[in-house]
Amino acid sequence: MVEQDRIGGDASTENSIRPLSLGEFIGQRQVRENLSLFIQAARGRGEALDHVLLFGPPGLGKTTLAQIVAKELNVGFRATSGPVIARAGDLAALLTNLQPHDVLFIDEIHRLSPAVEEILYPAMEDFQLDLIIGEGPAARSVRIDLPPFTLVGATTRSGLITRPLRERFGIPLRMQFYEPEELQLIVSRGARILGVEMTDEGALEVARRSRGTPRVAGRLLRRVRDICGVQGVDIVDAAAADRALTRLEVDRLGFDAMDRRYLSCIADHYGGGPVGVETLGAALGEQRDVLEETIEPYLIQQGLLQRTPRGRMLTDTGYRYLGLPVPATPAR
Ligand code: ADP
Repeated sequence: MVEQDRIGGDASTENSIRPLSLGEFIGQRQVRENLSLFIQAARGRGEALDHVLLFGPPGLGKTTLAQIVAKELNVGFRATSGPVIARAGDLAALLTNLQPHDVLFIDEIHRLSPAVEEILYPAMEDFQLDLIIGEGPAARSVRIDLPPFTLVGATTRSGLITRPLRERFGIPLRMQFYEPEELQLIVSRGARILGVEMTDEGALEVARRSRGTPRVAGRLLRRVRDICGVQGVDIVDAAAADRALTRLEVDRLGFDAMDRRYLSCIADHYGGGPVGVETLGAALGEQRDVLEETIEPYLIQQGLLQRTPRGRMLTDTGYRYLGLPVPATPAR
């Protein structure tokens, strides 16, 4: 959600370029190969696929993969998210409505309440629900058998998921940022679907500036299409893409105005760090979650920022990026 708002969200066209099968899904080779193998095995045995946990920053394709898993298994797909399941009864309603072997996708699974998590454990392990009905002395517990199902959980924050929950997933998969060449294929495919004429170099230009993230690539592609369309550019080549992206304030490395504000804040106000994420959030007027989930992972991956026990610190590369001298005697 947060990431969607960052560069002008349009979730409806996002769906139009969503890949529908593992074969169409570009990148994440290891994740794809593992899934394909386990799906084949489950189908061969005629059983539900074991529970799958997908880790990774927003926009890397976790929801897409969950949908693909259901399609490849030829079973039904239901989606919800951790914060939406407020009470144990909400989860019970979802689980009891599943058909055998269906996929239940829970996004942001690290945000389930402890009470809901508690009843999820036996549901995942033994396909049983233990519910307390009524209150006080009249309360009694009932056990309900569930159809075998596959839970696909997604989390942007592997550190926040509790150990007992993590251990109940037989297939944990970690998603990585995409390489520019992979994003180039994703952009080219998106351009074809959206009817935009774009050269390979134009697609690579958009790809390089997409923070390793397909959702960002899709969004930049649509904005580049808008700008080029209004300017009467028929074929989007590297130069046209560059002009459009520069106009969107996305620089050559894919960093945008928010990234620069974040880095400058640490450099200018906190001597390069270490500074706590809460303090940074207050200084920038952003929620801690936004910083941790959508801004920091890419800055860390690109080596501009370091997360230390004492707080966030700018690296030498971070100083260089801002065009500032690297401190001579770093306390790091
Ligand atoms: P997440 O659930 O990890 O936040 P999504 O699955 O919603 O991410 O993907 C975000 C967008 O990126 C969607 O429009 C999806 O179609 C696109 N996308 C994600 N992964 C790929 C991929 N490997 N190939 C093509 N498009 C992708």
